Amino acid sequence: MNRRNFLALAPGVAAWCVAPGAAYAAASPAVDAVDSVGIGCAFFVRLASPVEAKAVRVSWLGETFSPVLRPEAAGYGTWVALAADLTTKPGRKALDVAFELPGGTRAVRRDVTVVTRKYPEQHLTVAKKMVHPAPKALERHKLEREAVQRVLARRSGERFWETPFVRPVPGGVSSDFGLRRVFNGEPRAPHRGVDLRGAAGSAINAFAAGEVALVADHYFSGNVVYIDHGQGMISMYCHMSAFGVREGQFVSAGQEIGKVGSTGRVTGPHLHFGLSVMGHMVDPMPLFEGAGVPNTQG
Ligand SMILES: [Zn+2]
Repeated sequence: MNRRNFLALAPGVAAWCVAPGAAYAAASPAVDAVDSVGIGCAFFVRLASPVEAKAVRVSWLGETFSPVLRPEAAGYGTWVALAADLTTKPGRKALDVAFELPGGTRAVRRDVTVVTRKYPEQHLTVAKKMVHPAPKALERHKLEREAVQRVLARRSGERFWETPFVRPVPGGVSSDFGLRRVFNGEPRAPHRGVDLRGAAGSAINAFAAGEVALVADHYFSGNVVYIDHGQGMISMYCHMSAFGVREGQFVSAGQEIGKVGSTGRVTGPHLHFGLSVMGHMVDPMPLFEGAGVPNTQG
């Protein structure tokens, strides 16, 4: 195509490329996301629509869920948390959001690049029983894992969590998220939570508001509490010495949910704290440091 022809076509091209008019823009939903996320990390996405949406569908890494937009000063909006776990293959991924509006469905795509992140490795020598549990213990563990998977699969449209998130105990980190332990020379699955120091009997506080989804005594994790914070965010607290909540109860952010202990297969009292975001186990520590964590309360 020579320049003359291009100019002749220009009016038609312009019809595709011009900035939308005011009325059109007013009906445009918006999706604000990060450009990249490390493996083992959560990230936050802002959804907004000037008009009420009948439904919103968010698709990320092969899963779709439907968050509820809330009425705001101007239009409707919410924050959603998404994540890439340690097994996510690095590379550019599509974040797709479909807004079902009165005038039809509006699809918005954002590219988010998943990047690798370094995690530590630790070599340990432990009792054989812990490396190779008895068959009966494995059978029990299998049933417990299934119960946990059912909890981690919960996807409410409503969001109960707000920032800032609450650090469940004030103690420092004794074992990092993502740490790859090698027991007696055998590599194990990476640490999918963070171990926080705490004296036996000290209070554990809820990471955020939510519904208590599971209270149980598990073989490896001991006394556990799982809290569903909505939209696929679930926190877990392990090795507790005492429970302060029951299943089905709704807790507020920072509410005491039990006490630090050493139940399950551990050597001393601490809190193993885990966070699942849409089924992806993530490092909770960056969420307490504030970087990249939005203020969801305006
Ligand atoms: Zn742990």
